[in-house]
Order: sequence, then structure tokens, then C-alpha cells
Amino acid sequence: MSAPVRVRFAPSPTGFLHVGGARTALFNWLWARHSGGELVLRIEDTDLERSTEEMTTAILDGLEWMGIDWDEGPHFQSESRDNHRAAALDLLEADAAYACFCTVEELAAERKAAISRKESYVYSGKCRAIPPARANERRDKGEPHTIRFRVPSGQTSWVDAVHGPTRFDNRTIGDFIVLRSDGAPVYNLAVTVDDRDMQITDVIRGDDHISNTPKQILLYQALRATVPRFAHVPLILGPDKRKLSKRHGALGVSAYQEQGYLPQAFTNFLALLGWSPGDDREVMSQAELIEAFSLERITGKSAVFDVQKLEWLNGQHLSMMSGLAVADLVRPRFITAGIATEIELAERAIWFGELMAMVKTRSRTLDDLVVQARPFFGGAIEYQPDAVAKFWKDRKMARELLGVAASYVDGETAFDDLEGMEARLRALCEERSVSAGKLMQALRVALTGTRVSPGIFETMAAMGKSLVVERIEAALGYLGREIEAA
Ligand code: GLU
Repeated sequence: MSAPVRVRFAPSPTGFLHVGGARTALFNWLWARHSGGELVLRIEDTDLERSTEEMTTAILDGLEWMGIDWDEGPHFQSESRDNHRAAALDLLEADAAYACFCTVEELAAERKAAISRKESYVYSGKCRAIPPARANERRDKGEPHTIRFRVPSGQTSWVDAVHGPTRFDNRTIGDFIVLRSDGAPVYNLAVTVDDRDMQITDVIRGDDHISNTPKQILLYQALRATVPRFAHVPLILGPDKRKLSKRHGALGVSAYQEQGYLPQAFTNFLALLGWSPGDDREVMSQAELIEAFSLERITGKSAVFDVQKLEWLNGQHLSMMSGLAVADLVRPRFITAGIATEIELAERAIWFGELMAMVKTRSRTLDDLVVQARPFFGGAIEYQPDAVAKFWKDRKMARELLGVAASYVDGETAFDDLEGMEARLRALCEERSVSAGKLMQALRVALTGTRVSPGIFETMAAMGKSLVVERIEAALGYLGREIEAA
């Protein structure tokens, strides 16, 4: 039986949690949860100058918002420096590594020569042949040196869970540095030693690390450690097929949170960037994603980031929630926007839940909900130019229609009887010889300022008679002024 799955998410806290990193985290989490394994969180803070605590906090907050939990950690890579150095010394002892005394100038000259020959640069291996005893003497004297890994001849290959058999000719790798002259371990050594010590079975990370993988495999072999399985997830591209950036509307995870996306929609969206369940399902809960996830179904092709799809998925997840659950989520936004106070919303909790149930089907984000629900609260509204152009184009006609609407509302006593309301309004329209359809459109603009809203009778019922009367009066006033000014 193979060892239980242990995966890790290993972000460098040198920047915010962005879409690519969030997807890597998600895939690791889904794989851990799907296979009953464990997720280790490791903060790779070895670049002390660029790593900040603020970024670490932002990464943890982002994961938490996405609903990604971990079983171990966060470990901080900088705390394992001694292990990394010890491994470098083990390599030296086994002659799998050697001390390199080449100066920066010498290496620059090598590089320059390779470039002029139009070759890609690998280290010449000049210090390979220094006898260990001689090298030790020079080290003891304090001569500056790095420790380089002695890359054997041959090829390094692995079966990538995403890309299948992958092979590198070792000649293209070149003896690489594992310990810098100041004693700092380099990324490839630190990662390999940590993954070994943390008993990671599956390394799931971005395609941009593929060229590091042969180096890491060689290190595992030299350290006599079990090589984990690798799954390299393809890059995320913008709709123009270029590397994803802010230009494409890709932002840090916290920005999606602020904009009112639901974490379950955001993770659903990320999961579909490079993975699919193998059937035509798109809207999936986290439980469904966990159930369906497998490394085999990650595609080798790059995925395209499409904000509209994220919006669509958000709308789908929103419409699956109950009105009261939506109300809980969105309440702070109404308060911040100054639309209602916490107390007012608490006093009208049931009404607010019903309002959310009504507007959620036409909303894609939490901000949309606020915009759509705003007219249902008191106070003045703005008439949207597109709505005015379409349904109040003929101002006199609009005024006439709203006049009929006003007399209908005046006589209406059952504001909760949607069918009866419609029948009574239609009867009145017939009596006054006006089009009921046109009246409802003009009325919608008067009540909500917009072209689209929930059904007009539902809208009136949710607003209540006095607000409806107030809005029609305001619209009649506005139209009157417009007619006079014309
Ligand atoms: N810290 C590395 C990064 O953020 C990840 C290393 C890895 O996954 O092997 O790119």
C-alpha cells in the first residue's frame, strides 16, 4: 500500500496571494481532502529582504476566506536553515557536491563566452576536479566558496501526474549551487530537504517550477530520499493568451472578497482553471469538488482566466442560497453604504431576507445585490439614463401612464395579493384605454429608476404602499419639470 497522501502549499510571502497561488493551494487542498490525506502549510520566507509578515498574514487570511484549512503548520522555512546546511554537508561528504571557488568575475566571463557562442549557459565544472583534501584546506583558510551539486551524466526523468513522462538531459542542468558563499541554502536545496523532512508524497505546483524538478530529483537521489510524485499545473493565461496579469482583471484574492464574490464561487471558478470533473458539471459545491477531484483530470494545457465566468458562477452560487443566508452575508454592505442601519435591518429581518430572495436571482455579486435592493429602501432614487430613454422617452405619455398608476395605487388595499393586484390594474388600464404593458414599464422606472427589476407587483409588495405612492409622486414631479423645460 502506498503512503497516505501528504501535500504542501509553500508560498513565498513576497507578495499577496494571487490567483495562481490560490489555485495551487486549492488543488493541494482538494487532493488532500479527496484522498483523506494531509495538507501542510509551509511559508517559504528565506528571502528575508522581500518576505514580510504582512504578506504572510494576507496569505493566511486569503486561504481562510477560501475555506482552505491545513493539517500542519504554518511552518516557516527560515527556521529549518540548519537542516538545509546539514544536508549540503551530507552531500559534500558523499562527494555528491563540491566546493567551488570561482569568483563572480570568472563566472561572468564564462557566461559571456557562452552567450557569444549562442549557447545557453551552464557552469563549466572547473572546480569539480579539485581534490577534496585540497578543497578542504582552502575552505579552512576561509577562501570564499559556494557548494555546488555534482550533476551526474545521463538523464533525469519522472512521470508527471499532469504531463506524463518528462525528461531532462543532465548536460543542460549543469552543476548548480546548493549553498551560497554566505552559507545561505538555495531554493532547490531548501525545498527538497523540507519536502523530505515533511514526508511530502505529492508535489503539486505551477508549471513554472518544471525546470527545477530535475535538480530536486537529483538531490533526493543523492540524499537517498524517496522522490515524491510531481504534478505541474499549467499556467493561467489572460483571454489574450498572454501571462495573466492585472491588465486582465486578475487581482489578489482579498480583492475578490472585497468585491463581493462568494468563497464557494471563487473556489469553484479556480478549480475549473485547468481541471474538470470529466462530465459537463460546472456549478459545484466544495463537497462536490472534493469528491470529484483527481490529479489525472488536470489538463496539460494552459487555462484561460475569464472574469465573466467567475461572475456567472457567483450568480449561480448566490441563487442557490436562501434569502436569509444571503441577507447575513450582505448586511454589512448595506450598513457601510449608508442604506440602512444595523437596527433597521434587524427590525425588518424577515422583510430583508425576502427582499434578498427576490433580488438574488438577478444579481451576480454582493455589490449587485446592494444596487438592486437600494430602491426598496426609502429616500430619493436616480433615474438611469437608459431606463428614461427607453420607457419615458415620450415624457407626456409617461406622465399620463403614471397618472393612471397613481389612481390604481390609491384604490389598492391588498398590497400582498399579487394576482389580485395585477387583475385590478389591468381592468383599470382597459377602462382608461392605456396599455398595461407600457404602464408597468413606466412604473418600473418610477419605482426603481432602472429597466430591470423583480416583477412589478412583487416590487410594489416589497416596497409597501406609502413608498410606492411617494415614488410615483416624485416621478410625476420630475416629468412635469422636464415637460415644462422642453
Ligand atoms: N515558494 C515557491 C513559490 O512560491 C514554491 C515552491 C514549490 O512549490 O516547490 O513559487
